[in-house]
Amino acid sequence: MARAEIVLTSDLSLTSDYNGIPYVGFGACLPQNICPHWIYFKFFCPLEPAYPDGTLVRATLGLRTVEATCIQSDFTKEQVAVAHSLHLDKLVNKNTKIVGISAEDPLGIGPATSTWSTIFKGIPHNRIEYFRLMRKVKELKNKYGFKVVMGGPGAWEVQEHMDKFGIDYLVIGEGEYVIPEIFPAIMENNGSPYERVFYGKPVKPEDVPLLQGPALGNYTEISRGCGRGCKFCAPNTAGKMRDFPLEKIVHDAKINAEGSGDNSMCLQSEDVFLYGSNSKHFYPDKDAIMNLYKTLFEDVGISRVFVTHSTLAPMAFDPDLFERLTKYLRSKGHRFYGCQPGIETGCSKTIGEIMHGKAFPFSAEEYPDMIYDALRTCANLGWTNACTLVAGLPSEGPDEMKETLELIKRLDAFPHLYIPLFFVPMQVTSMKDSRAFIADNMNQYHFRILLDCWKHNIKHMDRNYRVVASDMGHKAIVKMGIRAMIEVLKAFIRYYERRHPELEIIQ
Ligand code: SF4
Repeated sequence: MARAEIVLTSDLSLTSDYNGIPYVGFGACLPQNICPHWIYFKFFCPLEPAYPDGTLVRATLGLRTVEATCIQSDFTKEQVAVAHSLHLDKLVNKNTKIVGISAEDPLGIGPATSTWSTIFKGIPHNRIEYFRLMRKVKELKNKYGFKVVMGGPGAWEVQEHMDKFGIDYLVIGEGEYVIPEIFPAIMENNGSPYERVFYGKPVKPEDVPLLQGPALGNYTEISRGCGRGCKFCAPNTAGKMRDFPLEKIVHDAKINAEGSGDNSMCLQSEDVFLYGSNSKHFYPDKDAIMNLYKTLFEDVGISRVFVTHSTLAPMAFDPDLFERLTKYLRSKGHRFYGCQPGIETGCSKTIGEIMHGKAFPFSAEEYPDMIYDALRTCANLGWTNACTLVAGLPSEGPDEMKETLELIKRLDAFPHLYIPLFFVPMQVTSMKDSRAFIADNMNQYHFRILLDCWKHNIKHMDRNYRVVASDMGHKAIVKMGIRAMIEVLKAFIRYYERRHPELEIIQ
């Protein structure tokens, strides 16, 4: 491995499985002034170990996919190393031609990060760790003269700052077609003859390579895209849903379980419960979903299957599917069920204007009731979802936000988490010219939305964490850290409400 010509890495905020709870990964978005470095790494972000040669045991799904893409094209396994960024010195040397970096939110300006960092006026961990990594990469680049290629969901953030970070080439979007084209050119010519920024087109499912090593959190990708077309979302993500073949999912689930020694897994998709559906009306396919789960439990031997993203419409449309699925999960000993859907807003007008596809197969007018029905179905079945909302959408004034407050009040009956995040106009979207929302722009209505959501979350947090901890078998020190964080949040909300009695007038 010390002779690898392509070394792939990511910063330390992307070198942890966050105690096996995807939601805890949001800890990377917290600013250092409210969550100091030592607390972050001790309780939230325990670092993934490295092998003696400096390669990572498990790496982010993004890095593993780039590694697989290189190996599926013309490179050998020996030419590619996935490095722990603390051990880059062991792997980067005069043989290195390319250092590839994957980043999620390198500048800390994504929705979750900008919410916390602008409210608490501090520098978030993901930004600190990205800058730390790039200083190291620059130092090594000066010594060995390799080229730096960066990709990942946050690549767009550094487009204007490539030289500052020593980045030679940027890959925005999916990498499967771009990498086999530019990596050989970079290696042969010690530079690409043409442009520096490449936009990766949506990849056909059959062209997505099989994983070669385990991904952090045992993330297993089952599809890309969702087809719902929200205007603030990256085009590839919002574009047509592409389901991966079951054989690939089974292969990757096995690689993850065998490589990590842990046979739980997390399904990665933008809309998990539409997997296998060919319906142009966005109707879920019960058989395809049940078959996916049964294959993973019964053929692969997976013991727990968690979920990343889903929309809420399938739960409102087909409660019977979720009843069947929950019964099945219970029969397999599951105790925690949940996913990360976006509610975004309670205002039908906003839904119709910028994200009408999010309601499908329902109409924009039916959206608030659909959200209520879906979350009621989930709550009745014992699911706890971490639902996000967007605060600061350009078209939303007091009337629109009152509708969101009304919906939050209705949803208070259920123990899900409601997490408002600030609107960020990604440069690759049609809303790129809108104003980014930060804490300084908040009015009483934004404050009220944030407070109502967090008061609700805190009310249910002890119970929710008990359920998660019982399923994840957390160590006492992790439980202690997370409980302490809950107490700090409770105290902060009480303090804030006492300081701002004027917010009570908005109900
Ligand atoms: S539903 Fe989610 S993933 Fe799909 S376009 Fe909308 S925001 Fe993006």
